[in-house]
Amino acid sequence: MKTIVIATSNQNKVKEYREILEPLGYEIKSLKDFDPIEIIEDGKTFEENALIKARALYQHTHHACISDDSGIEIEALNNEPGIYSARYLGEDTPYPEKHRVILERLKNAENRNAKFTCVIALVSDKGEKTFRGELKGEIAKAPKGEHGFGYDPIFYVPSLGKNTAELTAAEKNAISHRGQATRKLLQYLGENKDAA
Ligand code: IMP
Repeated sequence: MKTIVIATSNQNKVKEYREILEPLGYEIKSLKDFDPIEIIEDGKTFEENALIKARALYQHTHHACISDDSGIEIEALNNEPGIYSARYLGEDTPYPEKHRVILERLKNAENRNAKFTCVIALVSDKGEKTFRGELKGEIAKAPKGEHGFGYDPIFYVPSLGKNTAELTAAEKNAISHRGQATRKLLQYLGENKDAA
């Protein structure tokens, strides 16, 4: 059986990838199945950071590797925080506080456009490939919803009239940046049996 290593120690992410990729005949491993490795994410784009992680892990494990990088870009904030979304306003700052600061900064903004992006990188002895998904929306006027994580309570999807934190996991996956990137990866693996 072919092995794919996921460049994360987040067991929720590993579980999600396992549920999707095991039916296609892949054995899924993660960072915790190998000796520790330090990866410095110093890329300038989602693609660069995803590739940095997948390449480093591929060289470390000699198995096909997948990594993802994601974040939110807010037009009124010069597209910040982007690749710095997790670290924005401090890595350990609770998200309700990050939401409060963003809403304050957008208090008088007419343009509330925002975008979630997710890039998945696949690196194997067959080469390198990236898959991008995007979800366009707006920064809500106030936080709402209990589902999801991160910036979901303040991300409004006009076509649904809801914030992403108001969607179930399945509803969010059907439209989300991560869902789209994952479906592109799956399609690629389905069409290229030797790709990983
Ligand atoms: P990373 O991809 O693990 O580096 O994390 C990117 C960061 O972007 C997360 O920690 C969140 O702050 C934010 N983010 C990415 N995707 C989502 C999402 O689907 N909902 C809410 N926040 C997200």
